[in-house]
Amino acid sequence: MVKKQVCSFCRDEIEYGRGLMRINNDGSILMFCSNKCKKAMLVQKKNPRRTRWTKIYGTQ
Ligand SMILES: [Zn+2]
Repeated sequence: MVKKQVCSFCRDEIEYGRGLMRINNDGSILMFCSNKCKKAMLVQKKNPRRTRWTKIYGTQ
């Protein structure tokens, strides 16, 4: 069984062995499907619910 992982930003599924992992100083782990998502969350500090290309755009 391969555990599916989900992008911390856009909530898209990440294939096993793909994507980028970031471990914060507090020990929490963030997974990103792409550098685009990583930048959007960490550099641009966007809200995924207000970002049109994410899966959770428009959801509460
Ligand atoms: Zn993503």
